[in-house]
Amino acid sequence: MSSTIDLHCHTTASDGKLSPQELIAKAQERNITTLAITDHDTLAGFREAQAPAAQAGINLISGIEVSTVWAGINIHIVGLNVDPNHPIILEAEAYQRKVRIERADIIAERVGKRLKHDIDMDEIRSYTQDGQIGRPHFAQYLLKYELIGSFAEAFNKYLGAGKIGDVKSGWPDIPTAVKWIVQAGGVAVFAHGHRYKMTRTKLRSCVQDFVYAGGRAIEVAYGTMDSSQQQQMVGLAKEFNLMGSCGSDYHGPNRFGLELGIMTKFPEGITPVWEKF
Ligand code: AMP
Ligand code: MN
Ligand code: MN
Ligand code: MN
Repeated sequence: MSSTIDLHCHTTASDGKLSPQELIAKAQERNITTLAITDHDTLAGFREAQAPAAQAGINLISGIEVSTVWAGINIHIVGLNVDPNHPIILEAEAYQRKVRIERADIIAERVGKRLKHDIDMDEIRSYTQDGQIGRPHFAQYLLKYELIGSFAEAFNKYLGAGKIGDVKSGWPDIPTAVKWIVQAGGVAVFAHGHRYKMTRTKLRSCVQDFVYAGGRAIEVAYGTMDSSQQQQMVGLAKEFNLMGSCGSDYHGPNRFGLELGIMTKFPEGITPVWEKF
């Protein structure tokens, strides 16, 4: 269904296709009243969108989607309503940028070796427009040079969880990411718990660690989520007394079949995280 609140989406500051200005225009077109831009490991997209959002009358919440690692799994923690100028957040962004740059070289070497293709990092860097570099930029490159047949195939074969290009070295643990967010005055949100392919027991243990570290919310409405997945997230929210967040995880037109503001209905009996903003 269509929501006027979307607290999870991306711009060209990370792996999204729309510039911050274009995203705000899109949000206006889709009648979104409250929007959080949650680029991977950066607030640059949010900063750029502030003026256009004000002009469009959209309540823009600051956001960041922090990459972490837990038990060898890449877990995303969304920070909402953080102070974008807090020294801890500025440091965190710089730290994650360095991790991403170093990781990109490792991905290039590993995937290049597997494909027997000398990956041109300058070209991949040019796709990022100075934003955070990530695996989707590699997928774009592999597609351009017809080394794979589709974006999905790039992840299924080379970049996705457990594949050769899934480099997690350098990411902080969950408590570190939660502390960055909380110390900068924000709320830490456990992102898309249904997407990690973990057993129920493992996911519960991961969410428990997140809560012990100071995490206060979990995504209970998302762009792609079936009712049993939503029930599981609602169960975790209730067990750990977490607020609920909602977001599409929109990355731009023709990506993952998502649309800004389109997500599952927000469940009853859960406190919305945005009530405090
Ligand atoms: P990174 O930030 O480099 O760890 O890359 C993660 C991003 O890759 C996610 O935020 C998605 O945008 C994208 N992604 C992850 N898994 C897939 C997949 N199976 N198919 C397409 N894109 C994916
Ligand atoms: Mn992404
Ligand atoms: Mn994510
Ligand atoms: Mn995301």
